[in-house]
Amino acid sequence: MGKKWVYLFREGDATMRDLLGGKGAGVAEMTRTGVPVPPGFTITTEACNTYYEIGGKFPEGLWEQALEALKDIEAQTGKKFGDPANPLLVAVRSGAKFSMPGMMDTVLNLGLNASTREGLAQLTANPRFAADAYRRFIQLFGKIVLGVEGERFEHVLDEAKGHGQRQDTDLSAEELLQIAETFKQIIKSEAGVDFPEDPQEQLREAIAAVFRSWNGRRARDYRRINKISDSLGTGVNVQAMVFGNMGDDSATGVAFTRNPATGSSEIFGEYLVNAQGEDVVAGVRTPQPISRLEATMPEVYKQFHDIAKQLESHYQDVQDVEFTIERGRLWMLQTRAGKRTAAAAVKIAVDLVSEGVIDKATAVQRVDPHALDQLLHPMIDPEARKDAQALTTGLPASPGAASGKAVFDPDEAEQLAATGEQVILVRVETAPEDFHGMVAAQAILTARGGMTSHAAVVARGMGKPCVAGAGDLRINYAEQLVVVNGTTIRKGDWVTLDGSTGEVFAGQMATVQPELSTDFNELMSWSDEFRTMGVRANADVPHDAEMARSFGAEGIGLCRTEHMFFEGNRIDAVREMIIADTPEERRAALAKIEPLQQGDFEGLFRVMHGLPVTIRTLDPPLHEFLPHDDHEIELLAKKLDADFKKVKSKIDSMHESNPMLGFRGCRLGIIYPEITEMQARAIFKAAVKVKQEGIDVQPEVMIPLVGHVTELKPQEEIVRQVAKEVFAEAGVEVPYMLGTMIELPRAALTADEIAEVAEFFSFGTNDLTQTALGLSRDDSGRFLPLYVERKIMADDPFQTLDQRGVGQLVRIGTERGRNTRANLKVGICGEHGGDPASVIFCHEVGLNYVSCSPFRVPIARLAAAQAALGDSKRDK
Ligand code: PEP
Ligand code: MG
Repeated sequence: MGKKWVYLFREGDATMRDLLGGKGAGVAEMTRTGVPVPPGFTITTEACNTYYEIGGKFPEGLWEQALEALKDIEAQTGKKFGDPANPLLVAVRSGAKFSMPGMMDTVLNLGLNASTREGLAQLTANPRFAADAYRRFIQLFGKIVLGVEGERFEHVLDEAKGHGQRQDTDLSAEELLQIAETFKQIIKSEAGVDFPEDPQEQLREAIAAVFRSWNGRRARDYRRINKISDSLGTGVNVQAMVFGNMGDDSATGVAFTRNPATGSSEIFGEYLVNAQGEDVVAGVRTPQPISRLEATMPEVYKQFHDIAKQLESHYQDVQDVEFTIERGRLWMLQTRAGKRTAAAAVKIAVDLVSEGVIDKATAVQRVDPHALDQLLHPMIDPEARKDAQALTTGLPASPGAASGKAVFDPDEAEQLAATGEQVILVRVETAPEDFHGMVAAQAILTARGGMTSHAAVVARGMGKPCVAGAGDLRINYAEQLVVVNGTTIRKGDWVTLDGSTGEVFAGQMATVQPELSTDFNELMSWSDEFRTMGVRANADVPHDAEMARSFGAEGIGLCRTEHMFFEGNRIDAVREMIIADTPEERRAALAKIEPLQQGDFEGLFRVMHGLPVTIRTLDPPLHEFLPHDDHEIELLAKKLDADFKKVKSKIDSMHESNPMLGFRGCRLGIIYPEITEMQARAIFKAAVKVKQEGIDVQPEVMIPLVGHVTELKPQEEIVRQVAKEVFAEAGVEVPYMLGTMIELPRAALTADEIAEVAEFFSFGTNDLTQTALGLSRDDSGRFLPLYVERKIMADDPFQTLDQRGVGQLVRIGTERGRNTRANLKVGICGEHGGDPASVIFCHEVGLNYVSCSPFRVPIARLAAAQAALGDSKRDK
């Protein structure tokens, strides 16, 4: 027998997601555990990949296996594919390993043609239902399989309904048949082929269409944004149809076993009576809350409730399920781990531990560190909200608040966002083809659709605020405006959304950060139990240090002292120091700066209260501090009581073609040792003072941009000499460390020599990436996004560490450094210190700590815990 491309549902299980896709593995597992699932089979993801490899053809044996499996469905349902007397109809659904909601294609009611439609009408004694199913099938088949513009069909339907005068359900069987005929003509003229009457041909073409949808634009966009590999392929699920549109005892819906927005423990979902498959997700009508089902069909509800709970405990996680009720009989169509907001993820993980369902380690691994960003998202400032009157309130579909300019078209949203504008995408409802506009927007507002509509699900996944189903919106695409209860908002007008309450405001509003929940703190404390790597913050001023500590930072990994130079009017003294011609003049200017710097450091030491504080000596090119336009130069000359021409020519003489590779880093302190002297003195005097106040201090002095140990050595001598003097003078000793940034390839490669002098290393992976890749931090914006889009690089290397390249330098630097000094403390303070994948890498290399911006400290704590838990998994 050749390769097995097709699996009956009962042949698969939950572990087979790679091969069967998420949907296929889910229905297989449900079938296996006795949940009522309409019978069917799954064509493997391997078949999809092979289809592409051999140039868009079915792999050998696939079709025969599919026909064989179809017989099994026929046997189980007692119906026959293509038989007018008792026709079997099937759904053909996509389903990749990772859920890609609405990004790929699905065809329903397949198997209908003129004669099976007739048979269905007789069998159900419901000609209207059969005509409607027929109309829907031709429409979907035309659009999805034959590529006819969906609008062409919508237009005909809209016309038949008198442009909103009547509903779908008002159309008679005769009218629907008429529409179906018109649809066939449209297919003929648009696609140049006849609508295929042969059910087998329909099936063949639909399977191929699902394969093709794996490489459709929206699927590719979605994978790029969500970092899903293009090589996974999609499964194709062929399943007996069940109908939610057979009358008022039929319905279709989607539900979560817990609230996916808040995490609260209640079944949460929506359904539509007398509706088919995708109507709920598409947001065509605004659905009913699931609680109503309990009132109207109590027995079915109870069965549904029990199955939902059974699935949740079977998977030990929240499930997102789809179901259909056909004439009072419940069928489950899908189950998968429910996508949730970060707040819900944290609450659910903590709740499942207290319910005894999972352990702490599992809980820590359940929350995506990236998602924590959402919890730290802004809310509307309560002050700004006080007097503000919402224009309207829609559904709170995805939390967080955002302001932006209203835009009604996804392409335009993308274009405006690319120019740096903040936009809010306003749509009647969103469809998968709007995805690129949603990515570009700050937030999304829709007039129609529920909490599980496309807009809601997609926005929640991206962590973007969304208000959905705001029924008061009267959107006019032609005029590019929306009227909301008498207020007109035109394209470009500011609006503010609160995705947590569903409120919509006119104008731009201030936002603030939210308080973190006790569940969040609980999860963080569990993370701390598991992680072995330290987490510090990059903070330059006491306020940021306080923030960092409140997020759990265990020290400061980088204080960029130059950021203090712009405070108040001290920039004048800094400029005086830079313009100075002689060491004496320079010392005089530095003497003015010293007490101010000392004050800064005292503030940091007090806040950090005994935790290590790494202070870096001056790093940036000096002309960054100087004015460049004549007027400002003149003001400076006046202040310095100097000649304008002299000051200007001095400034001009400092121009550099390549400042990032120029006179910066330790080069400054080598040429102007008095700068390092001043900074060292400020650090040690501050340390002595704070220690005398009874507060422990742990200074770590760090020298930047060292490439040769011979650069570090003279800086070390200055720092140690100053320390000795300050301590002798005060009669107080403060233990301190002296170390260096490793941010040049040569430093990493000669780390054994550098560690002779340095007591600690901190990888400056911003510069290390810049220098290792020959990629300017400042000038790569023009092509780097395109590189990522075209997959020339998997990620932006300034966001996520290039592990293959720069990562090797980190590994080599760490190993060689520790060969010389076994107890060498090694950390990272580049932007990568807050990126989960990079944090995991740092753990694997054996770094002592990562340091990142204060708001990313929780992300790093969680990622570090997951890295440590990953170790124990690997050991097993
Ligand atoms: C670095 O280069 O990674 C670093 C932390 O220093 P800066 O970003 O200040 O150059
Ligand atoms: Mg640097």
